[in-house]
Amino acid sequence: MDQWLRLLHQRRSDRLPHALLLFGQPGLGLNHFATCFVQSIFCHHPDDQGVACGACAACQQYSQGVHPDFMGVNTLEEKTRIVVDQIRELSGFLGLTSATEGSKAIIVSPADSMNLNAANSLLKTLEEPPGNTHIVLVAHHLNRLPATVKSRCQIISFAKPGKKVGLEWLESRGHQQADRLLQLAQDAPCLAESFDNEDSYPRYQAVVEGALGMLSGKNTAFQLRKNWSGCGIEELLFWSLGVIRDCIRAVSGLPVVYFENSLYFTPLRNLAVLLDLSQLFRVHDHLAQLGEVLAHPLNKELLVDDVILAWQSIGSRRGKA
Ligand SMILES: [Zn+2]
Repeated sequence: MDQWLRLLHQRRSDRLPHALLLFGQPGLGLNHFATCFVQSIFCHHPDDQGVACGACAACQQYSQGVHPDFMGVNTLEEKTRIVVDQIRELSGFLGLTSATEGSKAIIVSPADSMNLNAANSLLKTLEEPPGNTHIVLVAHHLNRLPATVKSRCQIISFAKPGKKVGLEWLESRGHQQADRLLQLAQDAPCLAESFDNEDSYPRYQAVVEGALGMLSGKNTAFQLRKNWSGCGIEELLFWSLGVIRDCIRAVSGLPVVYFENSLYFTPLRNLAVLLDLSQLFRVHDHLAQLGEVLAHPLNKELLVDDVILAWQSIGSRRGKA
């Protein structure tokens, strides 16, 4: 992987910056990458690719979550933001001398869920990091991070791998129906893996078929609210955006290979004549913005209603076509 080799090269030439910001959409394995990177720093016997051995004392401690020179910060249960007290604790931890006389490392994920006070507090650490410290931030939305924080990190971007790579990876991990899982996850392999359970596919079907039913006039807002009651707002938005992009592809006359929801190519193509391109772009932007505010503790039911209204507005052109 390019990103890994680049960091390895920087480490070996002693040019690794103290702070890294891993950036990419959810489901690409950024947290796994961050974990492997930190483990490789602690490991006593990494291989020639810098991969941790998994067997030495440091690897054992790290994988058991008890390495004394590591601290991870995530959003606390029932919370949507990382708060300033968590970052203060982190700074206090970095201020202590290393228990192993080696490096200290921290991972903040998702760093874009820090509230402003937390981000300002982290900024002080980024500006004057204690020696021999590795700070790894993981973020899915760069625009939610203050420019001052971003500018003090080396940003490492991750893009979706090709479909073939995703399929091979899922199959190598024993997942059946890898193709279908990738479709649910819009080709993000780690997200696809998280969908390998009994409930995900029915929820996906409920969202896509509910939306298409709204466009063709078979569904009402009332029915959608009922059919989507078991779905989380994140996946409702995620799948809705995918269907709208496919509607745009259908109106543009693109072939099935370009569709994210290729199983629904025929109904999408049949609906295309009823849809208005500029309206689709408007609604897509609106829903994408809703996704941006998900980190805020808003009433989720209101957001679901917003998504239903969006589908209603696309379908409302039906009578005029
Ligand atoms: Zn090791």
